[in-house]
Amino acid sequence: MTADEARARDAADPLRHFRERFVLPEGVIYLDGNSLGPLPKATIAAMAHVTQQQWGARMVRAWNEGWMDSPQRIGGKIARLIGARPDEVIVTDSTSSNLFKLLVAALQQNPARRTILTEAGNFPSDLYVAQGAARCVAGARLHSVPRGELLGALSNDTAVLLLTHVHYKTAQAFDLELYSTCAREAGALTLWDLSHSTGAIPVNLGAAGADLAVGCGYKYLNGGPGAPAYLYVNSKWQDILTSPLNGWLGHAEPFAFAEPYRPASGISRWLNGTPPMLAMAALESGVDLALEADIVDLAQKSAALFTCFANIGAALGLECVSPLDAASRGSHISFRHADAYPLSQALIARGVIGDFRAPDIIRFGLTPLYIGFQEVVRAGEILREILTSGAWRDARYSVRAAVT
Ligand SMILES: *Cc1c(COP(=O)(O)O)cnc(C)c1O
Repeated sequence: MTADEARARDAADPLRHFRERFVLPEGVIYLDGNSLGPLPKATIAAMAHVTQQQWGARMVRAWNEGWMDSPQRIGGKIARLIGARPDEVIVTDSTSSNLFKLLVAALQQNPARRTILTEAGNFPSDLYVAQGAARCVAGARLHSVPRGELLGALSNDTAVLLLTHVHYKTAQAFDLELYSTCAREAGALTLWDLSHSTGAIPVNLGAAGADLAVGCGYKYLNGGPGAPAYLYVNSKWQDILTSPLNGWLGHAEPFAFAEPYRPASGISRWLNGTPPMLAMAALESGVDLALEADIVDLAQKSAALFTCFANIGAALGLECVSPLDAASRGSHISFRHADAYPLSQALIARGVIGDFRAPDIIRFGLTPLYIGFQEVVRAGEILREILTSGAWRDARYSVRAAVT
């Protein structure tokens, strides 16, 4: 795509006006919104409101003025992005903790089935959590197999099929409906991690017949660093599964201070402690913004940005590891390169912020809400300049920081 074509595409983009809704610093092409979404301008005001008007002025009274029901309220909003009913989603804890709660609950629900089945190469935190969850339930084990062997590995011992919908490295997407259906036919539950899906591509958990899901608030939902996560439980399981992390806010009557523990009915039983209201306010602001965009517009633009970047990569001889078929992927593009780390550092030094995923992947988030075609074309020019000049070979680009 030429610079002129990119300008014309941006001018015709129905999502173009969303760009002004974000703080996007001059001189930066931000291709990392799939790792940490940028700051929505409305969030600055939302944070001032929650601190000054609510915490500052209303103090403890604010719990009854919209704080206490914020996990359910924001969950109900996220539900609209993932094809769930409003009472099937709740905002709480981190993605990792939510995975733990749901995996243990799934294992405890059916003692005749002891296996968590997942994809080898799934996001490491999901694998670590699954290992830990298996250790907490007698006889349980984690079984990881390559993507192509998953369906064949479903058995009468599979308690739960744990899959990340969009792969964090390659952007490969599973067919939600196919895998949910196959798992159900094998008698297993499905647990989907939607961290790299929600807010970028269409997701319909209800239509797919998915049982359980979790996802992240700080990627495409732009909820802020370490934003609270969300958890989905299909209504048919809500009174059957119980959280292993009992806490007072998951109790049927938190303020009766009654013993013993009695789980709330519905989705609220997945809460345990007090919601972090400052972080909840930032997340709600990000979710409200995401709800303004049409998911079909987002998906179409994501696909077009991908094609643009994939053509640039092909012209540079880079090996693209992301699926070329838009229906089979999320909203980022990844290339394999032996020196992916110094390459990503050289790009960052020139204002093109993507990221590196060990050992050899360079990854670019093509977040359709605020990234334009001109930025992708410009990022491609900078990439070409670095590759042809060999600038990335400079020793300073090989120094590893803690976060890559
Ligand atoms: C980002 C991400 C997470 C994040 O987990 P945290 O508990 O928020 O650190 C989990 N799973 C996947 C697949 C992710 O992409």
